[in-house]
Amino acid sequence: MVLGLLLARAGVDVIVLEKHADFLRDFRGDTVHPSTLQILHELGLLEELLKRPHQELKELSGVIGGVPVRLADFSHVPAQCKFIALMPQWDFLDFLAACARRYPNFHLLMEAEVIGLLTDSARVTGVQAKTPQGLLTVEADLVVGADGRHSTIRDQAQLPRKAFGVPIDVFWMRLSKKDSDSATTLGRIAAGAIFVTLDRGDYWQCAFVIPKGSAETARQAGLESFRKLIVRVAPEFADRVAELTDWDQIKLLTVAVDRLEKWWRPGLLCIGDCAHAMSPIAGVGINLAVQDAVAAANILAAPLVNGAPSVADLERVQKRRALPTYLTQKLQMIVQDRVMTRVLALKRDPKPPFAVKLLNRYAFLRRIPARIVGIGFRPEHVHTPEHLPGSPI
Ligand SMILES: Cc1cc2nc3c(=O)[nH]c(=O)nc-3n(C[C@H](O)[C@H](O)[C@H](O)COP(=O)(O)OP(=O)(O)OC[C@H]3O[C@@H](n4cnc5c(N)ncnc54)[C@H](O)[C@@H]3O)c2cc1C
Repeated sequence: MVLGLLLARAGVDVIVLEKHADFLRDFRGDTVHPSTLQILHELGLLEELLKRPHQELKELSGVIGGVPVRLADFSHVPAQCKFIALMPQWDFLDFLAACARRYPNFHLLMEAEVIGLLTDSARVTGVQAKTPQGLLTVEADLVVGADGRHSTIRDQAQLPRKAFGVPIDVFWMRLSKKDSDSATTLGRIAAGAIFVTLDRGDYWQCAFVIPKGSAETARQAGLESFRKLIVRVAPEFADRVAELTDWDQIKLLTVAVDRLEKWWRPGLLCIGDCAHAMSPIAGVGINLAVQDAVAAANILAAPLVNGAPSVADLERVQKRRALPTYLTQKLQMIVQDRVMTRVLALKRDPKPPFAVKLLNRYAFLRRIPARIVGIGFRPEHVHTPEHLPGSPI
């Protein structure tokens, strides 16, 4: 959607195909980081976005083995907004779609599921999509696969992919919110339990991390045993866990981390989770996908105005985004493998490790994780011009 907006704004004809009828799905995470807010600021859309319901997270804290610790302080990040905006992704996508629709050359087709690529002997030339009205053929100078971690485009393009073992999955559920709840506590860690809460205004969207493949064992142990696990790691929720009365309220989200070795073929480019599925750790996946979109627009908008971009142009997008992707996934995998796996195997509550104690004690150190999470590696900026309808490109 971000790439569609940027390209349409630069005068390129764009069609975004979305297989669902709306964006109302729960499982995508809600964190709009300072880097993404900066992009909206550069587009002159920030004020409008922030008028929509959201929460502002200026610092991150956690509870490790019952000890509260402060982990990140966004007050010094080099960006217009010194906070993470928590906004359900369906609201964010609706906002972006509304902004993009202001350009007559932007078209969003809902309930249009891409099922195949059109190719000639040399390149990808378009897609075929299933719609309620029947099969739709779209020919294009460039097809961009931005269809997430179960991408059809990526499968059809047969691009080489490297998958990394992931030791965790996530149970995803809602619990009600109270005025007395801490607004900044994001994660709680106790023996065998990691519990994350995202502020959705009038309720908490909660993530309970489990060892990969252990969901069935947890279900067999029963709901009461699961409620007890939540209370052990987050005692303040003892008065609310009874809201969980059925496993239907608790969705299993499987976590995957992978990366394409080559993000493109002539006529085709993959970005976001389609090019590199992200773990939920640090809630950076949405923001990395947005950064990919900005880089792709910066590099491809001018060539696209004149027709199909060259293979060298597509290669430049991958070169630009490969390092930030590698570094971010590397950090996520270190946390998964060295911290989460150990915590989930613990029989006794952990104590805050030395590095966390330092962060908790020295405010200036908390700027480092804030910068890595909030801005990330190699932040992108909008370099594409706005082409107003009717004016020459
Ligand atoms: C449990 C969990 C929690 C997470 N929490 C966070 C978080 O808090 N913050 C964060 O930044 N990241 C989070 N992430 C990572 C984040 O969800 C992804 O990195 C991010 O959504 C990637 O964006 P994307 O646009 O590339 O793909 P997606 O958000 O997956 O979007 C792909 C879109 O393509 C559509 N689509 C799929 N197939 C087709 C098709 N064939 N035809 C047409 N349309 C299609 C889908 O319906 C969807 O709208 C989390 C991940 C997991 C697994």
